[in-house]
Amino acid sequence: MSMTRKGYFIMKKIFALILVLALSLTCVAAFAEDKPTLTMATNAAFPPYEYHEMIDGEDKIVGIDAEIFYAICDYLGYEGVIDDIDFNAIIPALQGGKADLGMAGMTVTEDRLVNVDFSNTYATGVQVVIVKEGSAIASVDDLFAEGANHAIGVQTATTGDIYSTDDIEGAGLGTVERFNTGADAVQALLTGKIDCVIIDNEPAKAFVAANEGLTILDTEYVKEEYAIAVAKGNDELLAKLNEALTALTEDGTIPAIIEKYIPSGAAEDKAE
Ligand code: GLN
Repeated sequence: MSMTRKGYFIMKKIFALILVLALSLTCVAAFAEDKPTLTMATNAAFPPYEYHEMIDGEDKIVGIDAEIFYAICDYLGYEGVIDDIDFNAIIPALQGGKADLGMAGMTVTEDRLVNVDFSNTYATGVQVVIVKEGSAIASVDDLFAEGANHAIGVQTATTGDIYSTDDIEGAGLGTVERFNTGADAVQALLTGKIDCVIIDNEPAKAFVAANEGLTILDTEYVKEEYAIAVAKGNDELLAKLNEALTALTEDGTIPAIIEKYIPSGAAEDKAE
């Protein structure tokens, strides 16, 4: 059976389309290879901001910071690379040029501003206290009570470490035990080596959900703002990051990422 004239034209069109598609895919691939890279330093033990997850048998770093970072890279035309290092190695990595930016639920503090610059803030954190259920520590005030002498677990160099070292250890009201990750501090709490853990509210909720017998004290310790850190004086990158943060907030990308990991349905759990 011979092909109709119309059928022949349709076939020709389809072939032309396939050719155009194949060509443009090659172009996209070539373009992708040419994209400059942007490296984010983080400490991927801080759910829901950054943590490891097995996806299709592959170990990936996911979370709010990871997704915002990739969205920023897409917006600015970079290939994003995430480097998982110790929290207290992030600022040195920026200073030494090993990473372009740091995103790690990192709080803007005066001390850090001496060594790095921060973008506009994209999230709020609250320092809270995790204790074992039935603990003698019933409120944040108990940590400051006269004669108090608690062993307080923190992640090294975090604001939880900085504040409790000043306010509690410095005042002779207890000792601060420093751990590499929040998860390590929580393990020490579970085995009774320490009396409480001071950490940001969202990871605190994730750790309490993942372990039996822990609870978060109602009273908040300190409220803070998270932002992206860059090497001091890297104004060019900082301006680009702020532009991307504004655009991706306005078009709903960043709110949707935060909503995915911290559903507002669980309103009472949200950092206010
Ligand atoms: N927000 C805290 C800080 O900046 C903790 C961050 C973290 O542990 N990743 O120190």
